[in-house]
Amino acid sequence: MTNFFDRASELEQRQRDEALARQAAKQHAGGSLSHCEDCGEVIPDKRRQAVPGCRRCIHCQQRHEQGRA
Ligand SMILES: [Zn+2]
Repeated sequence: MTNFFDRASELEQRQRDEALARQAAKQHAGGSLSHCEDCGEVIPDKRRQAVPGCRRCIHCQQRHEQGRA
C-alpha cells in the first residue's frame, strides 16, 4: 500500500514538473539557450527548433526527466 502511494505521489510530482516545464518553455519560447545550462555543451539548432525554449542538451534533459539531475 505504501508502495502504491509512493508511486502515486511520484507520478503527481512528475506531472507537476512537466506542467511547470511546459509553462517555463512558453515563457522562454524563442529564448532557447545556445548552450546547455547544465554542462555547457552546444545545443544543436535542430533541437532548439524541435523544443522551443529548451535549456539543456539532450543528455542533460534526459537525465533531468528521469529525475537524476
Ligand atoms: Zn548538457
